[in-house]
Amino acid sequence: MSRILIIEDEARISSFLEKGFQSNGFTTSVARNGREAVELAIGNDFELIILDLGLPGKDGFTVLEELRGQGAQMPIIILTARDELHDKISGFESGADDYVTKPFRFEELLARVRARLRSSTTTATAEAEMVLKFRDIILDLRTRRVKVGASPIELSAREFTLAETFFRHPDQVLSREQLLNHVWGYDYDPGSNIVDVYVGYLRKKLGEGLIETVRGMGYRLKM
Ligand code: CA
Repeated sequence: MSRILIIEDEARISSFLEKGFQSNGFTTSVARNGREAVELAIGNDFELIILDLGLPGKDGFTVLEELRGQGAQMPIIILTARDELHDKISGFESGADDYVTKPFRFEELLARVRARLRSSTTTATAEAEMVLKFRDIILDLRTRRVKVGASPIELSAREFTLAETFFRHPDQVLSREQLLNHVWGYDYDPGSNIVDVYVGYLRKKLGEGLIETVRGMGYRLKM
């Protein structure tokens, strides 16, 4: 269960946040001013902090700087009023990870919290993501090696990137234009049939039934 520290002086907002987070399975603590916030954050093991900028006494930026200065590494999401746009920039400079402008919908904040919690734990999953598997085909992104079953297959750099693009979006229709942009870059002639040619190469090397043509739309890695 993730523990979130809410630093917010307005009781109406902090209770709105607490209710929202708790009903989504998080545990929460609230700090109502900057001094209390720094004490709580340093002395406890929070996984994420929601930080209001307008706090009495010590403002949000000072809190942010003190926390980062004391080595706090958890993601910090700033809550800021819409007319304080310039504050956001200083927020990122002092070590905030994201911001949400008030007024906000809880779902919007929740989505950002989830994204932050995911990316702070990705170091563990990054290793696993270095290898992409589909059916009996393995793409090793570090060594750029490819295997179908036990047999190693030679792919050119373009073929590998094209295969990687398909493997990252299984069952999704990818248009020629998307593939062209992704694998060849924007300056490639959109009228070119190079995508079709390379899909042909991949089919030959990885299996004819692997990539299906979706008429008028593009190609799809067939589940
Ligand atoms: Ca406030």
